[in-house]
Amino acid sequence: DEAKKPGLKDTGEEEAETRVSYNIIFVTAEAAPYSKTGGLADVCGSLPIALAARGHRVMVVTPRYIHGTSEDAKFAGAVDLAQRTKVSCFGGAQEVGFFHEYREGVDWVFVDHPSFHRPGNPYGDKFGTFGDNQFRFTLLSHAACEAPLVLPLGGFTYGEKCLFLANDWHASLVPVLLAAKYRPHGVYTDARSILVIHNIAHQGVEPAITYSSLGLPTEWYGALEWVFPTWARTHALDTGEAVNFLKGAVVTADRIVTVSKGYSWEITTSEGGNGLHELLNGRKSILNGITNGIDVTEWDPSCDKHIAFNYSVDDLSGKAKCKYALQQELGLPVRPDCPLIGFIGRLDYQKGIDLIRLAMPELMEADVQFVMLGSGNPIYEDWMRATESVYRDKFRGWVGFNVPISHKITAGCDILLMPSAFEPCGLNQLYAMRYGTIPVVHETGGLRDTVHNFNPYTEDSKTESTGWTFSPLTKESMLAALRYAIQTYNEHKSSWEGLMLRGMTKDYTWVNAATQYEQIIEWAFIDPP
Ligand code: ADP
Repeated sequence: DEAKKPGLKDTGEEEAETRVSYNIIFVTAEAAPYSKTGGLADVCGSLPIALAARGHRVMVVTPRYIHGTSEDAKFAGAVDLAQRTKVSCFGGAQEVGFFHEYREGVDWVFVDHPSFHRPGNPYGDKFGTFGDNQFRFTLLSHAACEAPLVLPLGGFTYGEKCLFLANDWHASLVPVLLAAKYRPHGVYTDARSILVIHNIAHQGVEPAITYSSLGLPTEWYGALEWVFPTWARTHALDTGEAVNFLKGAVVTADRIVTVSKGYSWEITTSEGGNGLHELLNGRKSILNGITNGIDVTEWDPSCDKHIAFNYSVDDLSGKAKCKYALQQELGLPVRPDCPLIGFIGRLDYQKGIDLIRLAMPELMEADVQFVMLGSGNPIYEDWMRATESVYRDKFRGWVGFNVPISHKITAGCDILLMPSAFEPCGLNQLYAMRYGTIPVVHETGGLRDTVHNFNPYTEDSKTESTGWTFSPLTKESMLAALRYAIQTYNEHKSSWEGLMLRGMTKDYTWVNAATQYEQIIEWAFIDPP
């Protein structure tokens, strides 16, 4: 079956004349700049624009999060479409509203409901994850299925012949609803759906009893049916019965895409599939990996407004000034010659914080400086604060989610460390390379695909390498890679500059990815499974 799978071409520029235009509906829990906790938001903020630029009609459906803070200004450009729609789930007809903003060729549609109006991020607040997320995202999926039918955007609805891109578990009911709720009634018979898996660690697993609230016919229970392994059950009478949203989409979507080739393979293995590997293996013939692009206008050292000085491959002097400014802002000794290492990311097991913690005493013996920016697990946050007080002249731990600081760190550091245990794609290594900051990464998922290891004894290193990759995931191998990087920085300036320039001149635009998504979309219509 796999042999039938078409290979993905890199660009389709030459086909511009003959390209078919599709109606595409993104369904997502986050989309930058409106809401963001991670890479999902970046992808759903950029890929729709790239697809619209290629001639498709594109709508993004995402919640209208209102926090009662200045953050709410992000939604100020969206107008109320005054189109209340009732969706049937959780014991009644739930009424949702739709707000709309047309920007950069894309219809941004915000689902409005009181459950999206509260302080915190899309999934929780300082007390933890919200208890009603299953309800909130069930609502999102139902509303997203109605949007193309009922919203006259620019005068016309999108209609039934459209392609849904359901992102992660929050949107995973969409393909199930198409199959179970709409098609049996002759609606959406020509629509197709693609599940995009950004992170398989989160699947939307809830007690089986909640199935009856989802607004799905009883006979479709099997699509979401899930049984916990014995070790994960909480007591002797627990039968492990549950529903799993992501699984529902894995079995009903017409195509499945993950955010890098490496990750698309990893999720079919027992180590990487988080319980879904067998099912995904069975669907290998419709599973593809497409590496994310980045927003090259937001992340451009030659005109980035967040950084102290702009620079480019033609004149790198601004980068040294950014380092100076960063050291000054952080209150670290201003030392141009001292390698400055950075880390940016969610403080979560996934990001390899444990390894950094283990390695810290040894790393701090070297002549380096280290700055970490992140928020998440309070244990790690406390550790960062405590570490800062131990290594006052070498370490800074910035607890919080702060986009301007993330740009300053990306520009001002020499090295960016990403020891992720797993990483579906990873964006920070891409930003770093574009800013001439050398990534040192664990060889996994998208990190393996996008960072080419430097080894001065191999020929292709001089033309291909952009950083260091290490494996296995141990303190020793991470420290060894960091030592190579530090030594190269200190003693081999021309190799270092080669690494910087290669990283800075790579193509990170969304064009390649958009073209590949287009091929999968076309394939879903021509050859439905
Ligand atoms: P993930 O989606 O697993 O969190 P990615 O690397 O795909 O990881 O994307 C993370 C995105 O979130 C990047 O744009 C990164 O710069 C941003 N980010 C993560 N933590 C922070 C933070 N504390 N402050 C600002 N931006 C952050």
